[in-house]
Amino acid sequence: MARKFFVGGNFKSNGTVASIKSIIEHLNNAKLNPNVEVAIAPPAIYLLLANEITRKDIAIAAQNIFDKGNGAYTGEISAEQLKDAGIHWVLIGHSERRALLGESDKFIASKTKAALAQGLSVILCIGESLEQREAGVTIDVVTSQLAAVAEEVSDWSKIVVAYEPVWAIGTGKVATTAQAQEVHAAIRAWLKENVSEKAAEETRILYGGSVTDKNSKELAQQPDVDGFLVGGASLKPAFVDIINSAA
Ligand code: PEP
Repeated sequence: MARKFFVGGNFKSNGTVASIKSIIEHLNNAKLNPNVEVAIAPPAIYLLLANEITRKDIAIAAQNIFDKGNGAYTGEISAEQLKDAGIHWVLIGHSERRALLGESDKFIASKTKAALAQGLSVILCIGESLEQREAGVTIDVVTSQLAAVAEEVSDWSKIVVAYEPVWAIGTGKVATTAQAQEVHAAIRAWLKENVSEKAAEETRILYGGSVTDKNSKELAQQPDVDGFLVGGASLKPAFVDIINSAA
C-alpha cells in the first residue's frame, strides 16, 4: 500500500492572532499537491481560530495533551476536549517537551493511549540527542521510545511517527539523507518485528529537524521518508514548497 505523504507544521510557541491568520491565509490560497496530507499545529490558544479559518483539506493539530480525562488538572487540555472542539490530531513526545518539561517515555505512551482512546490521530515524536548519536546508540534510543508506546498501544493505524534527531531541531543542522533513511528503515524494521507487518507497511515515518524548501526535495526521495514535521520553516511562505516537495 502506498503511504500518503504527510507534512506537519509545528508552530511551537510562536505567533499572534494576526500572524497566525496571515500564515493560514497564505496556505488557504496556495496550490497544494492533493496527494499530500497536511496538518498545522498552532499554539493551543489559537486552535479554535485556526480550525475555523483553515481550508478543510488541512488538518489542525494540538501540540500536546494530558493523559487524563476532564477533571482537576489545572492548565491541561484533555483528549476529550480536543475531540469536542473538532481538533483531530495531536503532537505527542516532542523533544522540546521531553527535554524542557521532563516528559518520560512512559508519560508519552500514556498520552498516546489517551489520545487514541478518543479517536484522535497522533504524531508521535522520537529522536536521539547529539551525545546519543555520538555514542552510537541512536537506533537503541528510538526503538526504546517506540517500545514504551507499544506497551500501551496495539493499534498503530492512527499514529504517524516523526523521527526528529534532537541535534537537528531548530539548529539549521539537517540530518543527511543517508542518516535519515537509515533510522527510518530501522524504525520500519522495528515496527515489523514488534507490532505487525501491516503497521510497518502503512505507518508514515516523517523526518523532522531543520527541514527547509532547500533540503526537502532530496529527503523526500528516500524510500522510507514519508513526509516531514517542520518547525521554523512552517511559519514561512516556503512551507508551501516543502508540502509540494513530495517525490
Ligand atoms: C520541530 O519543531 O518539530 C522541528 C523539526 O523544528 P525545526 O524544523 O525548526 O528544526
